[in-house]
Amino acid sequence: MFKVNDNYLKLPGSYLFSTIGKKVKAYQEAHPDKEIIRLGIGDVTQPLAPVIIQALHKAVDEMGDAATFHGYAPDLGYEFLRNAIAKNDYADRGCQIGADEIFVSDGAKCDSGNIQEIFSVDNKIAVCDPVYPVYVDTNVMAGRTGVYDPSSETWSDVIYMPCTAENDFVPELPKETPDLIYLCFPNNPTGSAITKEQLQVWVDYANKVGAVIIYDAAYEAYISEENVPHSIYECQGARTCAIELRSFSKNAGFTGTRLGFTVVPKDLKSGEVSLHSLWARRHGTKYNGAPYIVQKAGEAVYSPEGKEQLRNQVAYYMNNARVIKEGLQEAGYTVAGGVNAPYIWLKTPDKMTSWEFFDFLLEKGNVVGTPGSGFGPSGEGYFRLTAFGSYENTVAALERIKKL
Ligand code: PLP
Repeated sequence: MFKVNDNYLKLPGSYLFSTIGKKVKAYQEAHPDKEIIRLGIGDVTQPLAPVIIQALHKAVDEMGDAATFHGYAPDLGYEFLRNAIAKNDYADRGCQIGADEIFVSDGAKCDSGNIQEIFSVDNKIAVCDPVYPVYVDTNVMAGRTGVYDPSSETWSDVIYMPCTAENDFVPELPKETPDLIYLCFPNNPTGSAITKEQLQVWVDYANKVGAVIIYDAAYEAYISEENVPHSIYECQGARTCAIELRSFSKNAGFTGTRLGFTVVPKDLKSGEVSLHSLWARRHGTKYNGAPYIVQKAGEAVYSPEGKEQLRNQVAYYMNNARVIKEGLQEAGYTVAGGVNAPYIWLKTPDKMTSWEFFDFLLEKGNVVGTPGSGFGPSGEGYFRLTAFGSYENTVAALERIKKL
């Protein structure tokens, strides 16, 4: 008789966005005349840039011709894309990352979930709190997180590193020593960034205690401040302690097209074993999850026209972020984020819980956001709004919020 992986049964409740979806659906059914504006979900709304569409069309045509047809992609991804990444994302920023240390994939969600598989189940993980829920969830599935306490909504074997207003949403070094440290900057959901000096402290710490940092830089393209690093490899010594996750979702609109990559430097080792060689055996090897057509579209992101068109797209979203942030401040809210990330993190008024504020905003303003508690215990009392809507909807939502 087969048995299931019991760890899956430990996952608590339903997923944050499905709970939100159900609540919004119920409200809309009860109030069909109300027009709801969604400023909650982290998906982009702008269409793919013209340069990307051209590259896709061209690659599709190549697939229809025996002379230019492509079958299985190479293990690490096509060289034309890895070379473009190595130059633009790393060499041009003074980071020493070779094209053969870049593993192309179908996005950062899969990679951030799968990367834990190359580590022993005995490793202790530390996570920013609040943060993108995938890191904890996938470690739950792997059996690495211990026992869940529903009252505190925490796992016994996870080190939570609170990111609150008191520390400007950048965690302090943990008291208990972790083996795997998940850092996500610019952060989802707080929208906060880390300075190069602050990140260097983490790199030095990881090297000292023999931990690995899994650095999620999915929102790197939104960085506007000079002293905020785009990559952890801008820090000295990161090659021996850090893996970096990147995505084309939020900088180039590939949420539905799917493309990302993970950097595993060859200097990153556990004794004699190189993590690079382990990740080379990951799920999806031989296909690497990203089709030729999509990797060609990814290459176009780095062309001069691509850079220009995508700069404009990021600027469009960041203008929305400004509208949200300034509107909320005008309405008397305490807000963070929105400067180096498309997320605005607001403190709920009148000591409302995150879900109370969700209901209040939905029912009184017909605006949907995301309750902060869905991202970890320290997110309670906070709420996330995103800049990914249209400009018109963003302005309209803020007009409504200001009147509440
Ligand atoms: N990492 C973070 C921090 C995210 O917020 C998201 C998506 O919201 C992802 C990764 C997922 O990226 P991708 O679309 O490449 O899977």
